[in-house]
Amino acid sequence: MHCDYTVTAPEVSPSLTILRTAADLRAATQPFRDDGKLVGLVPTMGALHEGHLELVKRARRDCGLVIASLFVNPTQFGEGEDFDAYPRNEAEDIALFDAHGVDFVYAPDAAEMYPDGFGITVTVSGITEGLCGAARPGHFDGVTTVVSRLFEHCAPDVAYFGEKDYQQFKVVQRMVEELGMNIRIVGIPTVRERDGLALSSRNAYLDPGQRRAAPALYGTMFALAGRLHDGVDIAAQCAWGRQALLDAGFDSVDYFEICDADTLVPAIANADNLRIFAAARLGATRLIDNMPVDRPE
Ligand code: AMP
Repeated sequence: MHCDYTVTAPEVSPSLTILRTAADLRAATQPFRDDGKLVGLVPTMGALHEGHLELVKRARRDCGLVIASLFVNPTQFGEGEDFDAYPRNEAEDIALFDAHGVDFVYAPDAAEMYPDGFGITVTVSGITEGLCGAARPGHFDGVTTVVSRLFEHCAPDVAYFGEKDYQQFKVVQRMVEELGMNIRIVGIPTVRERDGLALSSRNAYLDPGQRRAAPALYGTMFALAGRLHDGVDIAAQCAWGRQALLDAGFDSVDYFEICDADTLVPAIANADNLRIFAAARLGATRLIDNMPVDRPE
């Protein structure tokens, strides 16, 4: 899916309702639940782009009530990561949510999400161990803890996640299954720039030279998908991919792997249901991407 325009926020006062506490959100949404409306949730950290809005559009099509959350979650950032620098523009985000038909924006502060003495961490094991889980220790504990908290506060029937963060999507799906939460998790395909770069709030960090190099992340995965055939040496192909990224101007590669799309276990041979995953850095900016591999006949 490609995006060939930049989102700009309309200058109107929002007709949606912004809520800061779980109690207010529950009270405001109850009449809609009593009415039997399907409740959809789109969790975000703001700095919205067309990728986020694709989730909102799908939620709007599916659901009678759409809640979007805005919360830059400190617990999913590691030490030395970009929590303080992460782009924040609440007014613009709210205008965009409004223009796309969101009913309620839930924008709690950190004390509402993690009150003093809050002592629960939700950990999913197994599929959190590789890829971003290995590169960013503790990251997925932060994700599953905040998402379970958002689920508790928003009580959605359906929640929407981008395949851009595919491991996150699978981790949340696993959490919901194993905890028996009655919430359907829907994955939305990655929205890309015309040159293949996946839209990301972090793309704003890239200088012009880095921006020119960045589409190589997608380009290299795409090229690698074409190199897979039965009998291929997967480890050698991934090594080729890592080197191709360095040659294209990336400063380092966190991972470049081919894994089973459900278990995220690294593949040892060509098979059905594989996915390519890559994370690499341009200067201080870490970009991630992934794509499915259609197994050639
Ligand atoms: P974030 O604000 O980065 O936490 O992202 C909020 C949601 O938007 C997550 O489910 C992301 O996977 C999703 N998302 C981010 N970028 C994209 C994209 N380019 N295409 C589709 N979904 C995306």
